[in-house]
Amino acid sequence: MGKFSLTALPYEADALEPVISRNTIGFHHGKHLAAYVNNLNALLPDSGLEEASLEEIVCKASGGILNNAGQILNHELYFSQFAPQPTKAEPTGALAEGVKRDFGSFEAFKEEFQKKGASLFGSGWVWLSADKDGKLVITQEANAANPIQKGLTPLLTFDVWEHAYYLDYQNRRPDHLAALWQIIDWNIIEERLKKD
Ligand code: MN
Repeated sequence: MGKFSLTALPYEADALEPVISRNTIGFHHGKHLAAYVNNLNALLPDSGLEEASLEEIVCKASGGILNNAGQILNHELYFSQFAPQPTKAEPTGALAEGVKRDFGSFEAFKEEFQKKGASLFGSGWVWLSADKDGKLVITQEANAANPIQKGLTPLLTFDVWEHAYYLDYQNRRPDHLAALWQIIDWNIIEERLKKD
């Protein structure tokens, strides 16, 4: 028991196969994310952050509280962006226009995003975010960092910690990243941009 709880997945554990296996989902969501939730709940009492939202904690805290809260926020954005059968293979509307404006084309965006995910040294996350003027940017964030710490609005993320892909892809991180496009629900990403 504690302030935060493990958010249920919006799909079955095997629904993202073969891109992400049931085994990986079981460890990633059921063990790794669950541990971050339990750790944060154990650290919050007497921290002065008991009443803060998850986003506020990520922007204000340090040390173990920051790391566990960051990983919870990152994984909630990660797991909720997938769909077993996405209705479209690329964004439409304002997000599509922004991608073309800021990266040249959807293909050029995907190439840069994958390259930044593949070249991130160690553990971390690659993000597509919108800045205060609506410009789209790709950033590499180490460990548990989140773009909201830089004043950006996070839209899309690939987790490049080994626990995200090692059971299915071993050392082939680039192959895992290339496969993830098949299960991105662009409607969710577009909704995040609208809320910006
Ligand atoms: Mn992860």
